[in-house]
Amino acid sequence: CGIVGYAGERPALEIVMDGLRRLEYRGYDSAGVAVLDEGLLWTEKRAGKLVHLEKALAEGFSDGPTGIGHTRWATHGGPTDRNAHPHVAGRVAVIHNGIIENFARLRASLSVTLVSETDTEVAAHLLSGALAAVRQEGVTGPQALAEAMRRVSRQLEGAFTLLAVDADTPGAVVGARRNSPLVVGRGQGENFLASDVSAFIEHTRDAIELGQDQVVLITPGAIEITDFDGTAVQGTDYRIDWDL
Ligand code: GLU
Repeated sequence: CGIVGYAGERPALEIVMDGLRRLEYRGYDSAGVAVLDEGLLWTEKRAGKLVHLEKALAEGFSDGPTGIGHTRWATHGGPTDRNAHPHVAGRVAVIHNGIIENFARLRASLSVTLVSETDTEVAAHLLSGALAAVRQEGVTGPQALAEAMRRVSRQLEGAFTLLAVDADTPGAVVGARRNSPLVVGRGQGENFLASDVSAFIEHTRDAIELGQDQVVLITPGAIEITDFDGTAVQGTDYRIDWDL
């Protein structure tokens, strides 16, 4: 029910957890985070309130500068640690708000064993596979991740906000949106993604509204938005002029 992403230079975990706290009012049954740190993908997730996740994180977690965070309102699979997001496939971690209507058909096309009952885990495996395919075609760096997300988004039916990080794409977070909210926050040497501006309003008031069926790639210094076919689109910039 809440989604936050950060690409910058500060420790992502704190910013992402603060963002999730701001979104708590929406209700949720589980929470999780993923952070990139020098080629390693760190993840932690727990059923229940954020305090359960915080306890697990207190045992030691990455202070890497790229991360995503999620609060879940279960639709496919009960509220368990295992069904909590992020879902990891290969080197990618994916979080998702919404419902992927055609996930059963997509799951049947995958030759992997899934560990959760969620519709989301299917998207994680599709993204991991698409990323390998895109790289094989010679696309490298953050562009490969964005292109892989576009390919996956075109296959998905339903309503979704998806965010993903890839251990081999340092400094980048990619997001996709269809019939589900996603906004961008533009900072100085850091950028944000969230399902609601309240998640990043304490860091920046410069926001970009995405349209439906768009993919956004953020790095500390850039924000790139395209439609699902890869055509660049100009997001609508606006200034958040209200207070929480
Ligand atoms: N359909 C996904 C799940 O059940 C995401 C639910 C949500 O919006 O948090 O895990």
